[in-house]
Amino acid sequence: MYEAKKTLCALGLSYEKMHACPNDCILYRKEYEDSTNCPTCGISRWKEGKDSILKEGVPAKVVWYFPPIPRFKRMFQSHETAKSLIWHAARKSIDGQMSHPADSPSWKLLDDKWPEFGNEPRNLRLDLSSDGFNPHSSLSSRYSCWPVILVTYNLPPWLCMKRKFMMLTLLIFGPKQPRNDIDVYLEPLIDDLKSLWVGIRGVYDAHNGEYFTLRAALMWTINDFPAYENLSGCVVKGYKACPICGDDTPSHRLKNGHKICYIGHRKWLPINHPYRRQRAAFNGKPEYGIPPEPLTREEVLHMVENGDRVCWKKKSIFFDLEYWKYLLVRHALDVMHIEKNVCDSIISTLLEIPGKNKDGIAARLDLLNMGVKTDLQPEYGERRTRLPPGPWNLSKAEKIEVCNSFYGMKVPEGYSSNIKNLVSLQFSRLLGLKSHDCHTLMQQLLPVAIRSVLEKPARYAITRLCFFFNAICAKTVDVSKLDKLEEDVVVTLCLLEKYFPPSFFDIMVHLVVHLVREVRLCGPVYFRWMYPFERYMKVLKGYVQNRTRPGGCIAERYIAEEAVEFCTQHLSDVSTVGVPSSQKMGVSKPLSGCTVSVVDQDLLNQAHLYVLENTEEVLPYIEQHMIHIKTAYPKFRNRTK
Ligand SMILES: [Zn+2]
Ligand SMILES: [Zn+2]
Repeated sequence: MYEAKKTLCALGLSYEKMHACPNDCILYRKEYEDSTNCPTCGISRWKEGKDSILKEGVPAKVVWYFPPIPRFKRMFQSHETAKSLIWHAARKSIDGQMSHPADSPSWKLLDDKWPEFGNEPRNLRLDLSSDGFNPHSSLSSRYSCWPVILVTYNLPPWLCMKRKFMMLTLLIFGPKQPRNDIDVYLEPLIDDLKSLWVGIRGVYDAHNGEYFTLRAALMWTINDFPAYENLSGCVVKGYKACPICGDDTPSHRLKNGHKICYIGHRKWLPINHPYRRQRAAFNGKPEYGIPPEPLTREEVLHMVENGDRVCWKKKSIFFDLEYWKYLLVRHALDVMHIEKNVCDSIISTLLEIPGKNKDGIAARLDLLNMGVKTDLQPEYGERRTRLPPGPWNLSKAEKIEVCNSFYGMKVPEGYSSNIKNLVSLQFSRLLGLKSHDCHTLMQQLLPVAIRSVLEKPARYAITRLCFFFNAICAKTVDVSKLDKLEEDVVVTLCLLEKYFPPSFFDIMVHLVVHLVREVRLCGPVYFRWMYPFERYMKVLKGYVQNRTRPGGCIAERYIAEEAVEFCTQHLSDVSTVGVPSSQKMGVSKPLSGCTVSVVDQDLLNQAHLYVLENTEEVLPYIEQHMIHIKTAYPKFRNRTK
């Protein structure tokens, strides 16, 4: 066992255990290496036993650090991986289209500002993600584990976000979440990133067979919204919750709902748009404001350095990186969580799911307070209060219809989880929606399910929102269409404001307005969402076998997997760990027994036409036919189909 570990260390497969103060003040490294008490809070470094006697040598809190530099070096030692790492430079980019972060302004900024960095395709562009999970599943709700994961954008998209290339760098364990003190733990990682920016000499590149100086830059971080606050230091609650609008976040306090809603998206409309003058449909006032400009780099830096306590709680440790202040987007908004929260809000408001419903007596009273939609105010009866149906309310029959529609949906294999299992016909509800279920709902299924219910304007608004999410998640982004998309989403949000109660507009709904900006600056969404990381956290969770030592389990098994994976590179005919093989339909498993049915000629013709229209081989014939028609009959010149 000892021998095996020694070999692993030599290969660069090792980790460091760092002791930390249980109150998240410091790591016992550098000048505190030999201290036994925390210099800030005075608590001992050692763990207290049951009899309140300090157990010397047993640390109170440990952080696992997996140094990334030897791992990057090892990536270049493999011929194939080294070749993949310069994939981004060899690819052909199409003008006006973004299909990889390499097409984005954020990537080009690094190239332009530091040409000596940008000219070397082997220099790495990284992205950091962190999120908390509970390693004990349901056993203890307090305990949390925060892995910090690095991803290399140099790799081709089919490898970039795969388990094999997700680099675990830090594991922070504790009974409570590290919150804003996460900077303390990021210190060793930031030190390594600093030296990576300066350059690591003598890295062997197996593809070109030469030594070179490796450099790396962190492009942005990806987090869910609460972690956004922890990593950026920017406040994400209260009146100024939007990190992009900052001081000018359009917020409004609801007196009866006791919360803050974020309405006022008419600011983003063109100045002469008719909605701006409408009063009763919105908040009772006309809107002539201009949209808040996103904070510039200088403003952010100024606020961060001068300690503007309202919006910025701390200067995040990432500013220690020399290039960090110049970046266009430092922390990306996570589309996955935004989509899930918006979907949850819509579903629970439509189906009136208790506890999550944004409508209610308080919401109606708030409408009354704002002086709009006064016909919707609650009618107090002797036994119960009646709420007149608003544009967002479904009747009982309609709810059943929506649920039946979901219940009857059949989707191709691998498209989503079985929707049938999510529907409770008895209570007319959808239960246990996971983020991917919400994704499929918002992408395609929800507009189908609500097509025959609701009044047209409200249904139209929801459908537009779904189309927006569908468009924003495209794998290839057409830059020329982004402006139109941004205009459209503003109108969509205004329509929602028209037909939904103000309490519906939590910060997640507001963030939708900024998504197009991030796509424009950072490229396609699927490089910046949390799905791969959440999946990876499930893998890490599966590593925990000894419930008393979850950290050790994860660290050891991670190292072991890395070692196995490293060894398989030198063996032929072995598939590597962490890159899924493509699913071969019908080859790996037997087909189910077929049923023969005879169909009439009409249906057969329809099916035949459908197959023809959706077969790639037939396309040239259709095109030829169209050309023939257009030349033979000039009056059909403008037709496309
Ligand atoms: Zn302390
Ligand atoms: Zn905003």
